[in-house]
Amino acid sequence: MEQPLDLVIIGQGLAGSVLALSAQKRGMRTHVIDNNYSRSASMVAAGMWNPVSFRRIIPVWRADETMETLETWYPEMEAELEASFYHPKPVIRVFPNEAYAVLWQQRTEEGMPWVAYPESLPAGVKAPFGAGVVRRAGFVHIPRFIAATRKRLEQQNHFTQAEFKEEEVETEGELLRVNGRLTKRLVIATGTSALQLEAFRELPLRTNKGEVLDVESDVLPRDVTMNNGKWLLPYHDKVYKLGASYEWQRSDEEPTDEVKAALLEKAAAMLDVPLKVTAHRAGLRPTVKDRRALVGPLKMRGWYSFNGLGTRGVLIAPYLAEKLLDGFEREDRGEAHGIDGEISTDRYLSS
Ligand SMILES: Cc1cc2nc3c(=O)[nH]c(=O)nc-3n(C[C@H](O)[C@H](O)[C@H](O)COP(=O)(O)OP(=O)(O)OC[C@H]3O[C@@H](n4cnc5c(N)ncnc54)[C@H](O)[C@@H]3O)c2cc1C
Repeated sequence: MEQPLDLVIIGQGLAGSVLALSAQKRGMRTHVIDNNYSRSASMVAAGMWNPVSFRRIIPVWRADETMETLETWYPEMEAELEASFYHPKPVIRVFPNEAYAVLWQQRTEEGMPWVAYPESLPAGVKAPFGAGVVRRAGFVHIPRFIAATRKRLEQQNHFTQAEFKEEEVETEGELLRVNGRLTKRLVIATGTSALQLEAFRELPLRTNKGEVLDVESDVLPRDVTMNNGKWLLPYHDKVYKLGASYEWQRSDEEPTDEVKAALLEKAAAMLDVPLKVTAHRAGLRPTVKDRRALVGPLKMRGWYSFNGLGTRGVLIAPYLAEKLLDGFEREDRGEAHGIDGEISTDRYLSS
């Protein structure tokens, strides 16, 4: 008799990759389907994490828990996949004005973890109001992480390159047949492409367009990320990522000259160094009205969402994957999924 899978995941961006590896760690039989879209958010993103929101200098959502998971999960996966993609790197925050410098000082005096002062500033950096540092920050090279995950899934015969069409999913008793495979559960992790699915019609998923430049420099520091509202991240070899823009009104994926000029202007305010632009990309972040992810069941039995990772996908994905998989295990024991109301799809679908 055909043995059903535990999980078919649609989408192998950051979300689908993290979920697939986390599910396999729990021994769940998992298959992933992806259409190989080269301009997905994950292929454009810089992949940074940072537990501090620089706007008000406060910890980001669930900073302690998400950081704890991140700092063990990615290194474990590097070892597991025999690949390199996890790069801790402090971020130096150049203060925009005196009031911000005072607030930073206040946060350090209040004992807020994460925020401190750098011992020195790299040569060529302009910081008339001073600068702070967050040492426990860094980036995941997402395209390399996805490629390493893909390689592993292909070796296991657990990956199919195909276009998912929701109307082709069939129900067979308590199970689903997806792309010829029988499964207990189907998880949609297709980022903003999910907006085209009937299954997401009642969910407030929306796009936030972002643009990033690749720039080159022989002289800028490689050991820290610089941030003055826009960031300059040492990426690989001589390449730095300079970004990003945030636009709610636009849902196209075309890079624009206006954003390129604005990013370079902001970088010039922080750096006395010429930058050579070598690439310019745009992508759509999958975001949600209340800025929390969409994790949990969809309306159809056996269908689930792992989406809405927003602007901080790298930091929250491993933590959220654990929440979804815990929910599956509770359901398998005959209990309610119990996924936290702040992230659960139930907050929009329960009526
Ligand atoms: C400019 C920019 C900068 C960013 N910087 C950062 C950052 O520094 N740090 C950070 O944490 N986050 C950052 N983000 C956000 C981050 O990119 C997202 O949170 C994350 O990548 C979303 O991943 P995802 O897997 O949900 O979606 P996606 O990356 O969009 O992946 C969806 C996947 O589904 C596949 N797919 C879609 N439709 C189908 C279909 N019908 N059939 C089969 N497969 C399908 C696609 O090919 C793709 O592989 C940035 C985003 C942008 C745009």
